[in-house]
Amino acid sequence: MVTTHNLGLPRIGSKRQLKFSLEAYWRGEIDAHQLMTAGERIRAQNHQHQQLLDWISVGDFSLYDHVLDTSILLGNLPRRFAQQQLTPLDRYFQVARGRSTDVSTPLAAAEMTKWFDTNYHYLVPEFDRETRFELHPQQLLRQIEECQSKNLKPVIIGPVTYLWLGKSKDESNPLDLLEPLLPVYQQLLQQLAEAGIEWLQIDEPILVTELDQSWRHALRNTYFRLQTKAIKLLLTTYFGSLKENLQLACELPVAGLHIDATRARDEIDRIIDWLPQHKILSLGVIDGRNIWKCDLNSQLDWLEPIHQRLGERLWLAPSCSLLHVPVDIESETDLDGALKSWLSFALQKLSELKTLAKALNNGRQSVARQLNDNAEAIRRRSGSQQIHIPAVIQRTAEITAEMGQRKNSFTTRRTIQQRSLNLPLYPTTTIGSFPQTNTIRQSRKAYREGQLCGADYRATMEKEIAQAIRQQEDVGLDVLVHGEAERNDMVEYFAEFLSGFAFTRFGWVQSYGSRCVKPPIIYGDIQRQSDITTHWTSYAQSLTSKPVKGMLTGPVTMLNWSFVRNDQPLALTCNQLALALRDEVLALERAGTAIIQIDEAALREGLPLRRKQWPDYLDWALSAFRLTANGVQDDTQIHTHMCYSEFNDIIESIAAMDADVITIETSRSDMELLDVFESYEYPNAIGPGVYDIHTPNIPSIGSMVKLIQLAQQRIPAERLWINPDCGLKTRQWQEVIPALKNMQQAARQLREAARLDSQRTSNAG
Ligand code: GLN
Ligand code: ZN
Repeated sequence: MVTTHNLGLPRIGSKRQLKFSLEAYWRGEIDAHQLMTAGERIRAQNHQHQQLLDWISVGDFSLYDHVLDTSILLGNLPRRFAQQQLTPLDRYFQVARGRSTDVSTPLAAAEMTKWFDTNYHYLVPEFDRETRFELHPQQLLRQIEECQSKNLKPVIIGPVTYLWLGKSKDESNPLDLLEPLLPVYQQLLQQLAEAGIEWLQIDEPILVTELDQSWRHALRNTYFRLQTKAIKLLLTTYFGSLKENLQLACELPVAGLHIDATRARDEIDRIIDWLPQHKILSLGVIDGRNIWKCDLNSQLDWLEPIHQRLGERLWLAPSCSLLHVPVDIESETDLDGALKSWLSFALQKLSELKTLAKALNNGRQSVARQLNDNAEAIRRRSGSQQIHIPAVIQRTAEITAEMGQRKNSFTTRRTIQQRSLNLPLYPTTTIGSFPQTNTIRQSRKAYREGQLCGADYRATMEKEIAQAIRQQEDVGLDVLVHGEAERNDMVEYFAEFLSGFAFTRFGWVQSYGSRCVKPPIIYGDIQRQSDITTHWTSYAQSLTSKPVKGMLTGPVTMLNWSFVRNDQPLALTCNQLALALRDEVLALERAGTAIIQIDEAALREGLPLRRKQWPDYLDWALSAFRLTANGVQDDTQIHTHMCYSEFNDIIESIAAMDADVITIETSRSDMELLDVFESYEYPNAIGPGVYDIHTPNIPSIGSMVKLIQLAQQRIPAERLWINPDCGLKTRQWQEVIPALKNMQQAARQLREAARLDSQRTSNAG
């Protein structure tokens, strides 16, 4: 018999119940008991949903983040929280978000970073030389008790991955902590065994990354030391293939190994060869990272011979935790019927798993109806007229390298642009959005619900735009923006004007804590249906004599923040997006917009987990950007914006985008992140963010002057712009105005200093 199990379910609830309960708790509207009850309810439902499987995961739930839960389990909270007189729950939130409730005094929250190559963010464990661990298994044991099932399989993060995810605060090596950490894991294993647990899922996803000797050795050492007769370990890897770690993973002394068989499918044969006879092999055959139905029949064609070889040793599961997909497609009552029949969210994925197992255990005829329905859906999808647009296919086939190249070099363009734009030294600008006020949100909602007609909605947005222009003129900025009042979300807004995109109502996926995103679904060929931004940008331009910058989301970001079709290479889908957005760029140019910014906030997020695969990604991703941006005339100035500044490793690719100006995040790191420019001469202009928009604090003139002076040590003043770190959408006008006034004042001071400087030089000469 094939055994089925699951690696984890979404914990926010099918209607984001957890989000609403958390936020109500933080606002003081419900108490801890009510919040706990909300959590229990979601766990009970998740438990129920897994009843069809042989093993049910427990411990995959989290009120905020499972890495922070692991830190609690191991008694490793950042030291600065130890002194606080708080309940354990409030301390937990304090670490997670800097404050336990909205009225409590803030403290620096733990750092947050991306969970492997997903859009989920975890709270980074903090270590130092003195870090010691202590087991606090109460939460986990309570969840086990609560379930009252026999077939529970707890889920934990393995010790080596835990250390790898953390950050040392004093330059000590986290691996030095393995010695003190292992006894705590040994204790945990013992206690779980005593609680009647037979199998424990222990996640070591770092096995799909490039590891140096010390980490490989740590894995070997760890699993040797954790060997026990008391409990069986299922060592779990996901998000990629094992490559050079394959043999290591097979040899670790555990009872079973789980492999992401959607991303490491071509390694499975070798793994079976290597895997000792007494170990079970769990294959993650249902894609936990996408929302498409699995082609069950072809999956069975592949699995049947494997089942022959492995027999009872074969387990089946989703490729990774289902945390990364929405809960239930059945909630989507408004979705196009055909499209809906091609999709599978977390609950549907569990059923698919069950069907595969039944087919293997009792023959395909035992699930003939399910297999037929599935085959029918797969067939209808691939033949659908909704997906394939011949004109788009032809256009992508005709893309040439030339289309991604500007007509002249940056130096030539700069002279031409300077002549027409006539900007001062250190030009000032913002990244695009201004505060999304209640009026904006309410009128968007009213418009969507049909309570506000198109003309009235337009008029409201125009009023907001006019107000944004007035404010910017008042501050004295050099390059203005329209403020993005009309945009709910930088991806969804554009996607609504493109064919091939669909939107769900409840397709939420946790991003971090109570924050969820609802990625659009790219299901078919992409074509621009009409102008998207020209009306708003031209309207804004009509109100001012300063240049107004047009504002678009780039193709790579659109791709990385959507669920993407799996029936063609990503690179091709990205090119389709690029062509559609190129049309918008050219439309803006025709409408007289002299400066166009193309945001690539998520470019870095798409980098593969292994560095060896970076060049390939960067190659197609940046070609797509160039295709979008570079069809313009020399006198059109292209800007791009990225929400990070860890450039060191990709600086050459960024330079190859050939944007005239790039704006990046840097203010929080004192421009340290510009160190890369010491060794690499970045050729074009840069706006290193001087105003940290992630806090309500108003930066002083002096602090911004200082940051630019630091930047100036690496980038010549003629190529520096002055701007905030990112968009101002989440801020309040009363913070934004004084902050921008200070920023403008900083620019004035710098210009004055530069003027005096050049006077001095010419006098001396
Ligand atoms: N133009 C967008 C804005 O200002 C950019 C957002 C982002 O980089 N995440 O909101
Ligand atoms: Zn940004």
